[in-house]
Amino acid sequence: MEMPVRLTSPAIIIHGGAGAWRNADVNAVKRAIEEALSRGLEASRTGSSVEMVVEAVASMEDSGVFDAGVGSVLDLSGRVTMDAAVMRGSDLRAGAVAAVTYAKNPVRLAKVVLERTPHVMIVGGWADELARKVGLEPFPGPSSRSVERWRQLKESGGDGDELAKRWIELARQLGLDTVGAAALDSQGTLAAAVSTGGVIMKFPGRVGDSPVVGAGLYADKLSAFVATGVGEYIISLGLSLRASIVYSMTRDIVSAVESQVRLITEAFGAGTAGLIGIDYQGNAWGSANTNAMPWGVADRGRSLVLGMP
Ligand code: ASP
Repeated sequence: MEMPVRLTSPAIIIHGGAGAWRNADVNAVKRAIEEALSRGLEASRTGSSVEMVVEAVASMEDSGVFDAGVGSVLDLSGRVTMDAAVMRGSDLRAGAVAAVTYAKNPVRLAKVVLERTPHVMIVGGWADELARKVGLEPFPGPSSRSVERWRQLKESGGDGDELAKRWIELARQLGLDTVGAAALDSQGTLAAAVSTGGVIMKFPGRVGDSPVVGAGLYADKLSAFVATGVGEYIISLGLSLRASIVYSMTRDIVSAVESQVRLITEAFGAGTAGLIGIDYQGNAWGSANTNAMPWGVADRGRSLVLGMP
């Protein structure tokens, strides 16, 4: 069995999506991971693990390199709708938004839900209204890369019933580049956050695993996990909560992550998911059954990028 990466709090682990990562600009991806690690760690100087994961994810949303924020993929109708969530392990409070369009950084809106509402999830136009009300920066529109990918698929006949049948296969081929972060702060509090544009050519209104507590992310007092991959499969298995349960029984972050990657592979095949996790002692691990899952870890002593294509 592999040994975990041992970090000292404050510490962070992030990922840029488990997917195909073919024809990826590897340098741009690596730079974006490094930048997000440093933004997350920087946030620990004034904030808790919630700020660490939100700042790291916001950095990846702004990079345009991943399927989140300005880099979000387009749905069948050519629109961007985004999902995001953040969870704090110390009191099990979470905030999530689904199918939102207004905020440039949906993860910041998820933090508003966590900190300023009594709810866990707010969706669609109502969440957009909240984003406007609290003065979040508006979404400038999708990147030209996202629009171009969508146009090419449209032109190659990727539409309608035929596409619906092939959709999951297509999602696996085209990549699943959602972003996520899990962190441990110097108070010992764990947190997890995630943000995504979902899967390209999804049906309008489709929501994946990312904002679903227990599926796309989970954090408690012992460990924090974030998943990436085909949301439909991750929801069915409740992947992040399962990882958390395995951790509570084994106290081994590598087993917690690897057991769930094995489980989803057995249930739905390879090329379907990845998972990152960190525990209360700063042990961190990431694994995926896809071609690649760029991930990285950092504490005040070092920063490492792993899992590159
Ligand atoms: N899990 C995301 C979703 O299904 C996709 C991804 O991980 O890239 O919406």
